[in-house]
Amino acid sequence: MKRKPFIAGNWKMHKSIKEAAELANEIKRRFYDFDRAEIVLAPPFTALAAVADIIASTPVKLAAQNMFWEKEGAFTGEVSPLMLKDAGCSYVILGHSERRAYFCESDENVNKKIKAALREGILPIVCVGERLEEREAGKTIEVVERQLRGALEEIKEEEARKIVIAYEPVWAIGTGKTAAPNQAEEVHKFIRETIGKLYTEDTSSDILVIYGGSVKPENITFLIKEEDIDGALVGGASLESDKFIKIIEGAVLDV
Ligand code: PEP
Repeated sequence: MKRKPFIAGNWKMHKSIKEAAELANEIKRRFYDFDRAEIVLAPPFTALAAVADIIASTPVKLAAQNMFWEKEGAFTGEVSPLMLKDAGCSYVILGHSERRAYFCESDENVNKKIKAALREGILPIVCVGERLEEREAGKTIEVVERQLRGALEEIKEEEARKIVIAYEPVWAIGTGKTAAPNQAEEVHKFIRETIGKLYTEDTSSDILVIYGGSVKPENITFLIKEEDIDGALVGGASLESDKFIKIIEGAVLDV
């Protein structure tokens, strides 16, 4: 039996509070009592509280797109795990390739953030994935393994089980190019096998490994059919309610 589909919408640096509330309301209208997939919305920080109010008492969950690892202090511009909890977040996206590329986020930083999130009871959605030049140089597996092992360094099995891994080939993010389902499956399978080596078979078969990179209503059903693909982290297509709703509906068709 395959794992329950997990679909998260990463709104990145888009939407005013009013626009975010409208989008959240449209999603709530369709999924207020839906339990066939875990649905997660990741608005910008400024809209977290407004979206939290809208989805309260529905199964739809809230995520932040980043955080710092300290609890509080003189860290101008940063947001702590405690603050995210306070704002109603259940999840936090960590190690997104845009953070790695534009904000110098290292595997070590990602690992510190994962530990801090887990300590405060926030579930991390951890992104890994190779750049185009790395894929072309035949280094996909090497890069993904380094990021995965780095992220999970010193994390105990019972904590690791709570993490959602998002495989996001950088060349497929926001480019309209999706990895072919079998191309993505190859890496998902490798991620699951690596989890099996680091922990146990149980954890390897229970952990959620989702795909990200130009997911749309037209390709979700093909991706989700793959054995080791449990859902999607959706960027661009999560900004329009009709597309995001169709992606969720597509993800549960065969499950
Ligand atoms: C993302 O931001 O994680 C992402 C996968 O974006 P997009 O769906 O637009 O490629």
